[in-house]
Amino acid sequence: MLDGRRAPRRMKNREYQQIDPQALATPPPRPPPEHMPKRARRKWEVFPGKNRFCCDGRIIVARQSGVLPLTLALIVLTSGLFFIFDCPFLVEHLTGCIPAIGGVLFVFVIISLLQTSFTDPGILPRATPEEAADIEKQIDNPTGLSSSYRPPPRTKEVVINQQVVKLKYCFTCKIFRPPRTSHCSLCDNCVERFDHHCPWVGNCVGKRNYRFFYTFIVSLSFLTAFIFGCATTHLALRSQGGNGLVVALQASPASALELVVCFFSVWSIVGLSGFHTYLVAANLTTNEDIKGSWSGKSGNEDVGNPYSYNSIIKNCCSVLCGPMPPSLIDRRGFVPSDDSVQTRPVEIELPAAKNDINMEKDCLDFALSCAG
Ligand SMILES: [Zn+2]
Ligand SMILES: [Zn+2]
Repeated sequence: MLDGRRAPRRMKNREYQQIDPQALATPPPRPPPEHMPKRARRKWEVFPGKNRFCCDGRIIVARQSGVLPLTLALIVLTSGLFFIFDCPFLVEHLTGCIPAIGGVLFVFVIISLLQTSFTDPGILPRATPEEAADIEKQIDNPTGLSSSYRPPPRTKEVVINQQVVKLKYCFTCKIFRPPRTSHCSLCDNCVERFDHHCPWVGNCVGKRNYRFFYTFIVSLSFLTAFIFGCATTHLALRSQGGNGLVVALQASPASALELVVCFFSVWSIVGLSGFHTYLVAANLTTNEDIKGSWSGKSGNEDVGNPYSYNSIIKNCCSVLCGPMPPSLIDRRGFVPSDDSVQTRPVEIELPAAKNDINMEKDCLDFALSCAG
């Protein structure tokens, strides 16, 4: 507890320090330099996370992005049926604005979906072995007097808006996670202002792509409700004049299919949009809301969200309209040719004396990956 109290003062300007509890172990043998490839490699080629990169690192997607084509196919097929089978009839009987409105919504949805999927969500680069080892020495032996080994603290406390926020150590990335950062177990990266991993868009949703994700679900709500309304109107108009619904469905079976798809999706999409509108207004993330970080669910009753500006408009502006933070992983940059800089994850063998530490690390790592 004393350590924790002292930490905020000592670490105030060092929130992002990176510590490696294993770094005192022997470094692995390097491969013989004479057979090293001389071709300059981009950083995405040696990226340690589980992401995939396309177009020479310009596009980043999660490894399990299998649902993204399904999301795209559902949107494109349903909208395609609407434009082909409903629009001509509705233009003839109602107004020419209908395909224009549908077209604008459709383009908005597709662009925001692709931006969400292919934007770096705010991945934090992992610590290099040198960085980790350097901090480890300071933490392990802070005064230079004690020679007995004691495990480094696994959390730090920082004060944000007069509120103590605990920073957890990430055993995979070898960093203390900055506030609101969480490790995505699917992508194997620490992501800033981590909201959640969305399989539908095939990417984490975090600091850098949350605004695109929010635009996507809100515009998709409008598109789904719009197509639902238009298909219903189409069938209602066709069944007028004593034709009946069966005749209308036979005349336009595509409208029936659109109705089914929209009916089953509109509730969840509108509900999700409403939920995220609440999160934006309160400057919360899904992760914080589920864990109840600031609502007393976590056991602490007198907590409030330290990131909130206590104004809905300010919260909305900061989440959706703030300046776009730069990507930190520099995936198009070149790996330095200097052998001393290693970007690949390093497997370090622990000496036998530290096996108990190793076991504790594994348990904590597993628990953190479950929680995160
Ligand atoms: Zn991490
Ligand atoms: Zn993820």
